[in-house]
Amino acid sequence: MQSQHSNSIVNESEQRSTGNFNPVLLSFGGNIAGTLERFERALQLLSQRGFRILSVSEPLINPAIGCEPGAADFTNLCVLGEWQGTPLELLDLTQSIEVEEGRPADHPHWVSRTLDIDIILMGYVKIDLPRLKVPHPLASVRDFVMKPAREILPEDLIKFLENQAEIYKKEDKF
Ligand code: AMP
Repeated sequence: MQSQHSNSIVNESEQRSTGNFNPVLLSFGGNIAGTLERFERALQLLSQRGFRILSVSEPLINPAIGCEPGAADFTNLCVLGEWQGTPLELLDLTQSIEVEEGRPADHPHWVSRTLDIDIILMGYVKIDLPRLKVPHPLASVRDFVMKPAREILPEDLIKFLENQAEIYKKEDKF
């Protein structure tokens, strides 16, 4: 398994050659009325467009930390699946679904939102592109990601995510 840990992508041309990006862990979040229905539609759109869903965690309610005053609580869950395309093709897909579900394409970071889809993990591959960092640098310090992730992600990948957080800390990526 050790060789899987050394794969990393730092430019777009490496995307197809780097190997196995599976399984993929996504994190969903939203805090505007209708979030669960939006999650359902996003799951349908993902699977219609080539993302094979393996399992979905229970939704969790979490306070809206860092958002505008009075922001409603967030609902969060994690999705485990498989993707045969490149990482940036998956990002294009998740971002198009966010927009279809009512999120402006150029959204500010710390405000209420209809649907946020983050790519948390793609197998053991490390990605450091301007548009995409995987494992997601903040995932392992966010309870709203790690709690649902622990329900559905194999233990070795949980450890990889936690170890990567230590590396990011040393590299000052937080
Ligand atoms: P946010 O508003 O927090 O959802 O951040 C969205 C921005 O983060 C987009 O511009 C993405 O290109 C970028 N981004 C970097 N890494 C990731 C990732 N692992 N998953 C989703 N978006 C990412």
